[in-house]
Amino acid sequence: MKDNLKSPGVHSRLASEEVDIQAPMDGYQRIDKFDPEAVKRLSAHYTQVLKEIGEDPTREGLLKTPERVAKSMQFLTHGYEVDPAGILKSAMFSEEYSQMVLVKDIEVYSLCEHHMLPFFGKAHVAYIPDGHIVGLSKIPRVVDAFARRLQVQERLTNEIRDCIQETLKPLGVAVVIEASHLCMQMRGIQKQNSVTTTSAFTGIFLKDHRTREEFIKLIASKLH
Ligand code: ZN
Repeated sequence: MKDNLKSPGVHSRLASEEVDIQAPMDGYQRIDKFDPEAVKRLSAHYTQVLKEIGEDPTREGLLKTPERVAKSMQFLTHGYEVDPAGILKSAMFSEEYSQMVLVKDIEVYSLCEHHMLPFFGKAHVAYIPDGHIVGLSKIPRVVDAFARRLQVQERLTNEIRDCIQETLKPLGVAVVIEASHLCMQMRGIQKQNSVTTTSAFTGIFLKDHRTREEFIKLIASKLH
């Protein structure tokens, strides 16, 4: 199933590069077009879901709901069709800067793979360059590329870290995500307002506790 979801994206990306050579070659494209066949198939399933929960899919308010949900689900999972490493590669520059680069308070919206309910919050991503930096706007796009899939917060955190480490090859990467999970909050579990925090580090952030503490201090500070 995963492979089925992944391959059309790879193909459509290659196809669009072949067809439209004027398009910006930045290694990814935003998915705002929907596959009409997939919308049709998903809509039929959602019509069935409406019946199963005791609704009447023919009443006025629900007439277009299966199609809307089908499109919305495609958007919320469009990360399968995005190449996060390609996003980074499209804007990497040689630079001798060797201090910490931190992008904090990146909005994260994802779907938990156990309940397909949203979890959302903030990601803080830092790296220490080793000869290369990346355009700052690309970091939130990498976060989004992994978040717009069915996820667990722990894997999301690791995937962002690994992608930056393997592509940019910096001295170290640090990722912290704080998120609220609707599957906990809406399903009657007691800790209604709990926030889950996950973290993942590589390189100097693992080896040098002062670097890690500086990162933690920076993301905790309200100065920005
Ligand atoms: Zn869940």
